[in-house]
Amino acid sequence: MLEALTPPRQFTLSGDFWRQIPGYSEVSEQDFSDPAWQERNSIMRPEKIRDLLQGNVAEQFIRDLSEGLSDSTMSMRITPYILSLIDWSAAKKDPIRRQFLPLKSEMIAAHPLLRLDSLNEHGDQISEGVVHRYPDRALFLATDKCPVYCRFCTRSYSVGVDTPTVTKDRNAPVADRWKSAIDAIRKSAAIVDVVVSGGDCFRLKASHLLELGSELINLGKLKRIRFASKGLSVLPMKIMNDRAWTDALIRLSDMGRAKGVEISFHTHINHPREVTHYVVDAARLLFTNGVMVRNQSVLLRGVNDGFSEMTRLVKLLSDNHIHPYYTYVCDLVSGIEDMRTSIDSARHLEKHVRGITAGYNTPLFVVDAPGGGGKRDVHSYEVYDKETGLSVYAAPGVRPGKLFVYPDPLHSLSPGIVADWASDDRAREMVRMVVERAKMQGRISGG
Ligand code: SF4
Repeated sequence: MLEALTPPRQFTLSGDFWRQIPGYSEVSEQDFSDPAWQERNSIMRPEKIRDLLQGNVAEQFIRDLSEGLSDSTMSMRITPYILSLIDWSAAKKDPIRRQFLPLKSEMIAAHPLLRLDSLNEHGDQISEGVVHRYPDRALFLATDKCPVYCRFCTRSYSVGVDTPTVTKDRNAPVADRWKSAIDAIRKSAAIVDVVVSGGDCFRLKASHLLELGSELINLGKLKRIRFASKGLSVLPMKIMNDRAWTDALIRLSDMGRAKGVEISFHTHINHPREVTHYVVDAARLLFTNGVMVRNQSVLLRGVNDGFSEMTRLVKLLSDNHIHPYYTYVCDLVSGIEDMRTSIDSARHLEKHVRGITAGYNTPLFVVDAPGGGGKRDVHSYEVYDKETGLSVYAAPGVRPGKLFVYPDPLHSLSPGIVADWASDDRAREMVRMVVERAKMQGRISGG
């Protein structure tokens, strides 16, 4: 079913780039391109990095990483592929390293409004693993595993293994969970759109992906199904070389098309350096076989918050038929305050990006409103008080009458306001005042 393809030549890295890692100097292209080899050799301990780099990483970095992991909500897991994309001569500043390997020396105090499960996904569950927030859509959390673990994962309350700071949700066995989840989707007449996520669909077996997708298509009521995976960014060789898995996705795409259900694959690429020749090949294969691919980036300080990085990313994605759908302002997650950006910087970046390419290839910059307001255009706030760093969003199509407050990171605020945030009374007062202003300006009750 899969076609042999010649990808366009626009590599940002080429050849056997992994051989620059001493521990991979003898690894053949065949092994490195084998997703099973990548999974088998995934790196889950700082000491393994020391072994692989063989003197090319400072002992201080390994200590810093170990201490950072002790304060993280996500454990460490990266593929050899991701390890090889990091520029180890400048690892502290490297945009790939920053996403996966936390350093204690970079961590700063969390914002006082931070809560675990900051989007309140628990509050919107209609069955274990089914979040029904928007009227016609549901999020189906089909697995709690991923091929890598990102420091900034919003779903750190349930994804991955326990860390010193978070005991993850204990979910029912997958088979039981899926049955009740599909029943809940079937019974809710309003749901016509399902996002199958997790965790990450790359961690579903091909047979399970096909079984689950077929069952959803055969419900006969859905119009759209999206399969979400960061895999295209972190394990792209799976698309080319795990033929059973990719065939399952293509079969679902074909089956959906025949039955009037739009099937798409949503991925998560944050930096232009992630678009390697492996990604180009994989994206081309999906495109040629009719699978629609969209990208959802997270805006991260020191990764993609620069104009140059974001514009290169948007262009590279577009040119490889990966539709740049969303750029999310980073959610409130413990241990990653240094990576968040302000609403003002997101607005500024969006202004520069809009116009560089076709509008339909320009991502919508959104903030996922803390507490469950859903995704809001960053520009659509009722009030934005740059001094206190508080923006207030209404979501009439999702939670009529409610208001949602997003706080800018403390590092973007003046020392005086940072001191105010340290006082519970003053913090409550700042939130109260901005919400009152929003109610007055937007003539919205509740909140
Ligand atoms: S791949 Fe997605 S779900 Fe998994 S850790 Fe990263 S952000 Fe979280």
